[in-house]
Amino acid sequence: MTAPTTSWIDSANDGQTHFPLQNLPYGVFSPSGQGPRVGVAIGNFVLDLAALDEAGLLPAAARGTFAGASLNRFIALGKPVWSETRKRLTALLSGADGALRDNDSLRDVALVPMDWVRLHLPVEIPGYTDFYSSKEHATNVGRMFRDPENALLPNWLEIPIGYNGRASSVVVSGTELHRPNGQIKLPNEARPIFGPCRKLDFELEVGFIVGRESALGEPVSTDAAPDHMFGMVLLNDWSARDIQQWEYVPLGPFNSKGFGTSISPWVVTMEALEPFRRENPVQTPEPLPYLQQHGKNAYDIALEVALRPQGAAAASTICRTNFKAMYWTMAQQLAHHTVSGCNVRVGDLMGSGTISGTTPDSYGSMLELTRNGAEPLTLADGSRRGFLEDGDDVIMTGYCEGDGYRVGFGQVSGTILPARSA
Ligand code: CA
Repeated sequence: MTAPTTSWIDSANDGQTHFPLQNLPYGVFSPSGQGPRVGVAIGNFVLDLAALDEAGLLPAAARGTFAGASLNRFIALGKPVWSETRKRLTALLSGADGALRDNDSLRDVALVPMDWVRLHLPVEIPGYTDFYSSKEHATNVGRMFRDPENALLPNWLEIPIGYNGRASSVVVSGTELHRPNGQIKLPNEARPIFGPCRKLDFELEVGFIVGRESALGEPVSTDAAPDHMFGMVLLNDWSARDIQQWEYVPLGPFNSKGFGTSISPWVVTMEALEPFRRENPVQTPEPLPYLQQHGKNAYDIALEVALRPQGAAAASTICRTNFKAMYWTMAQQLAHHTVSGCNVRVGDLMGSGTISGTTPDSYGSMLELTRNGAEPLTLADGSRRGFLEDGDDVIMTGYCEGDGYRVGFGQVSGTILPARSA
């Protein structure tokens, strides 16, 4: 029997919504006047899983895990329970099981219009790691800051390069961030100045949420990696380029990245993304054995970035790209992360690295789109941007295109506030 594809909730069936029956992403929300709980997005509604659980409509194995302020307890139950819960939700929302559709009072409580809810950070994130896995991005950056002839460092084609980021400053979409202050080294000065970042940037990324912990000392193989992944989010890895350029040698970015990372409120499960797996790009040289992988490990996710200046009527789309062209895959990132014996925890966030394509309109950062500010973009309202200005709202969206439906991530947005007086 094929899985049902339409819901009795009309707004889930229009072919354009990011949240059709085939998606069912998890988030944490507060209905007005009530505490946070776990929900699933369906069309223009959020389905309150705590209420469904209370009514006894969800799998017994997941009992009691939806009433809290994060997905972690549910995620920790593991893949078989994720799968069973998805099957139950599909039956309830398709109407194959009428227990929700035909119960007026439960429906009134459990189905909340999306516009009425406040969305929270969906996961308690113990650790955040950021990779650097787009060959186009690494090449563009290497050309600008190092040697145009040898843009990729020799280790890049052997290692899914990454660094340990800050989990404490990962925030949910809609959170405003102050322009960071920091040390900036101007070209003709002997010593750095201290002040507001002048080259504030975004990085278009996606991230996966670890769904199963690994033990200290025990590597996770590329073949086992999918069992350790719960789902994916959109991610904006805000970056202060001038601070970064001065601080990043020898140990990598620090203050230039630690001031904030924004993620989308909905976690799209790996199960919902399964139909969108694709062959990953051919890797030359052949990776070392522990990085070799089988099957399809890339995901076809169309991505866009838009910028809306303060007070502007409309946002301007400034980047269109796709996640499927990433050189290093998520399975390889996890295998590399753990090969030394480093353990991962439920809820850990693994950023893909900036996702850039081959054409100038597919670059996933201002640094690349404007060639480090030298070639400013012109926006719909006529204003120009080398980097981000105060009041700018950066909006990232992403979805997988199915046959007559979209499995979408919604959006991750964030507005830049002026720097705090130093
Ligand atoms: Ca990054």
